[in-house]
Amino acid sequence: MFALSGRVNNVGLVEVPMGISLGDIVYDIGGGIPRGRKLKAVQTGGPLGGCIPASLLNTPIDYDSLTAAGATMGSGGMIVVDEDTCMVELAKFFLTFAAAESCGQCTPCRVGGKQLLDVLTRITEGQGTEADLDRIEELSHVMAESSLCALGKLTPSPVRSTVTHFRDEYLAHIREKRCPAGKCTALVHSRCVNSCPAGVDVPAYLMLVSEGKYAEALAVHRERNPFAAICGRVCPAFCEQKCRRGEIDAPVAVRQVKRFMADQELKNPWTPERMPSKGKKVAVIGAGPAGLTAALRLAQWGYEVVVHEALPVAGGMMAVGIPDYRLPKDVLRAEIEHIKRAGVEIRLNSRLGRDFTLEQLMERDGCDAVVLAIGAHKDRRLRISGEDREGVISATGFLRDVALGNPPRLEGKRVAVVGGGDTAVDAARTAIRLGASEAHLVYRRTRDEMPALAEEVDAAEAEGVRLHFLANPSAIIGNGRVESMRCVRQVLGEFDESGRRKPVPTPGAEFDLEVDVVIPAIGQVPDVSGLAPAADGQARALAVDATMMTSLPGVFAAGDAVTGPATVVEAVGQGNRVALFVDAYLQGKQPAPEKMWPDYRVLDLTYEMEAYASVPRAKAGELPPEARARDFLEIEQALSEEVARREARRCLRCDLERRKAE
Ligand SMILES: Cc1cc2nc3c(=O)[nH]c(=O)nc-3n(C[C@H](O)[C@H](O)[C@H](O)COP(=O)(O)OP(=O)(O)OC[C@H]3O[C@@H](n4cnc5c(N)ncnc54)[C@H](O)[C@@H]3O)c2cc1C
Repeated sequence: MFALSGRVNNVGLVEVPMGISLGDIVYDIGGGIPRGRKLKAVQTGGPLGGCIPASLLNTPIDYDSLTAAGATMGSGGMIVVDEDTCMVELAKFFLTFAAAESCGQCTPCRVGGKQLLDVLTRITEGQGTEADLDRIEELSHVMAESSLCALGKLTPSPVRSTVTHFRDEYLAHIREKRCPAGKCTALVHSRCVNSCPAGVDVPAYLMLVSEGKYAEALAVHRERNPFAAICGRVCPAFCEQKCRRGEIDAPVAVRQVKRFMADQELKNPWTPERMPSKGKKVAVIGAGPAGLTAALRLAQWGYEVVVHEALPVAGGMMAVGIPDYRLPKDVLRAEIEHIKRAGVEIRLNSRLGRDFTLEQLMERDGCDAVVLAIGAHKDRRLRISGEDREGVISATGFLRDVALGNPPRLEGKRVAVVGGGDTAVDAARTAIRLGASEAHLVYRRTRDEMPALAEEVDAAEAEGVRLHFLANPSAIIGNGRVESMRCVRQVLGEFDESGRRKPVPTPGAEFDLEVDVVIPAIGQVPDVSGLAPAADGQARALAVDATMMTSLPGVFAAGDAVTGPATVVEAVGQGNRVALFVDAYLQGKQPAPEKMWPDYRVLDLTYEMEAYASVPRAKAGELPPEARARDFLEIEQALSEEVARREARRCLRCDLERRKAE
């Protein structure tokens, strides 16, 4: 019998048989997580229990399995927590209770609990150090081994289990002074700012837009992200996902306000300010958002920066991945021009591994540091028979050829795209635009689980892309050329590492899609073939340490090449960070983020917020599907000035809380 509570749709007392999986309780009985949020962990056993992460949802409910996962059956409490819960703060919450319960008879419990609490408080206030993690382990060990009763022995459990399973979250508090869940008030300016991977000051630029001060607003945006017009079109808007207004009616349409603001200034040349020369050279490999952002920051801070780009165009996946109907090339070019105006030289058709080596950069060209920002451009293979048949084409290669003006002939052809992310959806929509008679999108999970944005999937469907869910290709059939793709229907089985149910094939449930072209788009990895092989002859993976440096001294890496396929704004955030570490390395100092970027500002409110309480979220117009599905014209239209300014005033200005706190 468990008391199921927390962030789960059905709360209450549940009686379950021993051996049922944790995931079955959360999803089948509990009805899953409200508001489409992601499950983060399940805390079992009451305040002295532990947290089991979403990656262990197959854990059977029995005494031994729960103990092995770092939790306990305990009092039968089962609290579900989602992505908005800070695990450090949660551990502190339980610890506060347990420490107060100590009777004080034995020292390990009386003093240990208090000391642990001090450490956690430090971390949640951004004062923690990595040594604190060792301190937690040491204190927990002593308390568990030498306390007199179970209270003292188990008090450290929530802390221990969260450090074990959510170490990255502790490290974000310690190293980046950031609370990923946006809960630790000392570290959070406002939820939107906290959730933006580039840390853009959203409330400040919304406020300035509301007053019609577009150039000032854009200047605020550019302090942390130079690609406002691009992100105003393609950003998944993490800020909107956390916007407090969303809990009342609908989040502020931040992305669309941003686009309006950036478009007002797009034609005005921006020349970023530069510090005096530091007399050092940095080479950046790859002109995607990560590389260009790093290059811009380093140029602004006085370095001589050359960006080497393998392709004949700059922009990375913004140029050769995201199609024109979402991101017109003139918008991209205008924002790249700003980077060049900061003094950054971009050398096109210059490929590391083909045209030069890392050693040449360091020794011949005298570079003091190198940033690898080569993205993830190598498609994963389907690993099924017939994959080498004529008519199977790589998704990134396909989109790149279209972007560079060499589209394959698809008129009248039937195309199947495999995958559920941005690349898959864009490949299918591009195929339609190139005249394909049919475009199928085959995805092994359900619609809700597609990594692509829901609006993009809806748009693809409206344009005629046929969606096949819970289906996976098993063979590509044809006599030399592709004639059909065999698919197997899937059912959702046990939970996988990501906390989602794993699709498993249904034996015998097969169907053939008669198609001429198959485009696998099931993920990309960095192409490291051009990098110098390690001593063991293997290509180096782009693994980095806490300062974003690879195993080669002075060689740093950032963006998709490190994180795997992500988003433009995440690449920008990576570019900012890697620049900070390169600067610290070259100056022989500790990185100090607060010195490199202006402080967040809390601007005065100049209007009556109540007047906007019932204004509904603005919606940008778009070309109707029948008018857009055969060309690459931009689909989404900009908000009008009046609507953009009104939308900006829907912001609840959570940052004002900050001023109150100070
Ligand atoms: C089809 C598609 C749609 C997408 N849609 C969106 C979206 O809507 N919103 C969003 O935010 N994100 C989207 N993304 C993701 C986003 O574009 C990427 O996450 C982002 O561009 C990654 O930036 P990056 O700088 O790390 O790498 P990239 O943008 O990939 O840039 C890497 C650059 O390095 C160059 N390079 C590689 N190897 C070498 C070498 N050896 N020498 C020299 N240069 C080299 C490449 O040519 C490339 O120009 C999409 C991606 C794709 C593929």
